[in-house]
Amino acid sequence: MIVVIGSINMDLVLRVPRMPLRGETLTGGAFRTIPGGKGANQAVACARLGHTPVAMVGCVGDDAFGTTLRAALVADGIDVSHVTALPGVATGIASILVDEDGQNSIVIAGGANDELTPAHIDAALPLMARATIVVVQLETPPDTVRHAIAMAHGMGKTVVLNPAPAAALPASVLAQVDYLVPNEIEAAMLLGAHADADDYAGSAAALQAKGCRNVLVTLGAKGVHAALADGSRDFPARAVKAVDTTAAGDTFIGGLVAALAAGADPAGAIDLGQRAAAIGVTRHGAQTSIPYLNELEPS
Ligand code: ATP
Repeated sequence: MIVVIGSINMDLVLRVPRMPLRGETLTGGAFRTIPGGKGANQAVACARLGHTPVAMVGCVGDDAFGTTLRAALVADGIDVSHVTALPGVATGIASILVDEDGQNSIVIAGGANDELTPAHIDAALPLMARATIVVVQLETPPDTVRHAIAMAHGMGKTVVLNPAPAAALPASVLAQVDYLVPNEIEAAMLLGAHADADDYAGSAAALQAKGCRNVLVTLGAKGVHAALADGSRDFPARAVKAVDTTAAGDTFIGGLVAALAAGADPAGAIDLGQRAAAIGVTRHGAQTSIPYLNELEPS
């Protein structure tokens, strides 16, 4: 089993001719709601890109978005027994404006995601005990993330951390991570103000020196730089015409984790993640863009 602990959001996506100015009202937009949130996206990607059972741990509100988002996870075959609907709390949302050039502006209201506590993790320990891999990100409270990582590491699980949105983390946490998957900006942020996002190989090596067993820095269309337990390697991305890179990182992580759970070595898992993300960026939206295993090109 793969357990994904993290955020569950409804993306409120408004396509607009251009970004509005302050105080301006624009007409002519087109609106869609699309299930998102880094945690839920990664759970869906794990489910679509492999055959290992997936369970999600997170919180939604007791509102219509919460009901829809739970149903979306169930539709992908994901165990939602530890997705808690909190009374009187709003489900997390991301309000996303996308202009004609594909540029976006995003505001997130964490809502129920901000209420995920260490007690929810403790309640899910029997579920985590059945897992081989536990996946976390940083869209839920930091003390909950730290507790989840400590528990998973203590139980001998493979811990995958996507440190997004970017934040500093203590070395004691990094030392409990088997696969750290930042983009180049997040990699630099983890190292503090002195780090340079362009020196992603230096960042990966420095993060590995802090105790992460494997550091995979995603570089958008340039692919992945991996500092693996047995040495560093660059993995170029597939050449595709990207139309929307929303959830590219989540799709990559889902493919990576699904392949690791199936017994792939790190290089094979990175390859599957990149083949999946290359399809995802040719489609719009978050969970709407995540492909299924049978859609992937052979490597
Ligand atoms: P997001 O926050 O939008 O999910 P991210 O910054 O976490 O993205 P990226 O580094 O942009 O993640 O992308 C993750 C992976 O997706 C890349 O390593 C690559 O394999 C694939 N990818 C992203 N953009 C492209 C692209 N334009 N063409 C091909 N592959 C891409």
